[in-house]
Amino acid sequence: MKRNEIQTIESTNRKQKPAEDQIEFGKQYTDHMFMMDYTEGQGWHSPRIVPYAPLELDPAAKAFHYGQTVFEGLKAYRKDDQIFLFRPERNFKRLNESNERICIPKIDEDLALEALKQLVTLDQDWIPKAEGTSLYIRPFVIATEPSLGLAPSKTYQFLIIMSPVGSYYKEGINPVKILVEEEYIRAAPGGTGEAKTGGNYASSLIGQEEAEKIGYTQVLWLDGKEKKYVEEVGSMNVFFKIDGEVVTPALNGSILHGITRDSILHLLKHWEIPVVERKISIDEIYEAHKNGKLEEAFGTGTAAVISPIGEFFWKNEQLIVNNGEIGSLTKKLYDTLTGIQYGTEPDPFGWRIQL
Ligand SMILES: *Cc1c(COP(=O)(O)O)cnc(C)c1O
Repeated sequence: MKRNEIQTIESTNRKQKPAEDQIEFGKQYTDHMFMMDYTEGQGWHSPRIVPYAPLELDPAAKAFHYGQTVFEGLKAYRKDDQIFLFRPERNFKRLNESNERICIPKIDEDLALEALKQLVTLDQDWIPKAEGTSLYIRPFVIATEPSLGLAPSKTYQFLIIMSPVGSYYKEGINPVKILVEEEYIRAAPGGTGEAKTGGNYASSLIGQEEAEKIGYTQVLWLDGKEKKYVEEVGSMNVFFKIDGEVVTPALNGSILHGITRDSILHLLKHWEIPVVERKISIDEIYEAHKNGKLEEAFGTGTAAVISPIGEFFWKNEQLIVNNGEIGSLTKKLYDTLTGIQYGTEPDPFGWRIQL
């Protein structure tokens, strides 16, 4: 057998699928998963699609102790019998960038994409049909070597699991309220902010929890050095429309390279709407709001695509954006991007892959 040939063992015990109006994010998983192993000296090997099942790992596996894990997130979309992926090659490229940062050996991106296509095709009945639904795909790598010595693991597993998701905006797109985070930071220069690695998310939970206690959905993260410049919102990238120009923080080493962010930048340039990537301070947002120039704000990421922001809370002041309603550009970006993803809009950039 060729070393990179994907073996498939089909499940003989198919699960009951959830009713489409009762899907809970990340709770149910499809019938199969992809796995492959890394062994020092041998490289990545044994790619296989197998029935979805718990893993058996040694309690000393490094992933449990030292956080040597990375992940990705993307979706498969359905339009009748057509199934689409959106820029999936970018996810595997980013997975390898994350891998590099935390000393995990790189995977073969072409093999990973091929595995993903086979897995989605096999479990395609799990992609829900109702409008706005999709199949969430979670590729990830874990360090499995049973050894507590602090050093990169000598063994790893790469997996892809998939979970149906209901419509994110069942009750319409309601803008969220955001607390500007002044105590905690999510990333700092030289840290791991640019990598999708588990520890970044563990350290951000407390900010979110405290924000929720006082009625806010998420936090706006400021830079880790001066706590002055805006970086991200929750686990999304962030955009502002100020006086007719769209501004998003420039990638600076501690901001995650969102694929949605990149897609929005392309769309805006395509439409010849002024857009810039640069440093933007929270003081500047405050001033723009005071002068009536903060027109729109939104977060971007695969899960929600675009999440309009209706309010920022900073230094005991509420900065209300666009009367707490979704802005017209935000709406147009949402409609266009989801239209490309679901195959109902033209795809001028060739982002869609049909299975
Ligand atoms: C995944 C992620 C994003 C969004 O990335 P997309 O590729 O657009 O889904 C933004 N910020 C953080 C911190 C993330 O983990």
